[in-house]
Amino acid sequence: MSIIAKYESTCTRCGEPIIIGDKINWNASESSASHVKCPKDPLKKKRAGERFVSIGDSISKTGEMPPGKNTPEGERVLFVRVNTRYHWCYIGTDWIWYIIDNNRDGDDWGRSNVLGKEIQGIGWKVPYNEKLAQEIRDIANILNA
Ligand SMILES: [Zn+2]
Repeated sequence: MSIIAKYESTCTRCGEPIIIGDKINWNASESSASHVKCPKDPLKKKRAGERFVSIGDSISKTGEMPPGKNTPEGERVLFVRVNTRYHWCYIGTDWIWYIIDNNRDGDDWGRSNVLGKEIQGIGWKVPYNEKLAQEIRDIANILNA
């Protein structure tokens, strides 16, 4: 790492002061200066969305899909549109749910195993774990920011 030059500027994304020329803070691929890991980074939401998709994918593969019409306990966290479907989670004391909407004309509503207040879906649940719950909350904070 070599330091090219050092002078102060402001990040074009968040407006915070930064030192330009310090390779740690300067994204040289951009014509204007911004933090490499800026809290207002638009890519941060994209990455968080992708992470959420991968978490959902994992829950749908490792979790159980309880039969019947379930009403998950706990707090609904995240409600995001990914591709063409809405996805959301419930974080309860015993379970974490991941649900994809199955609510449209043309959907087989008989497949829905989760009934929500406004929307029904197909859901999977895994036993509550602190690390996963925190990660989902962190993603929610980024996506809702
Ligand atoms: Zn910034």
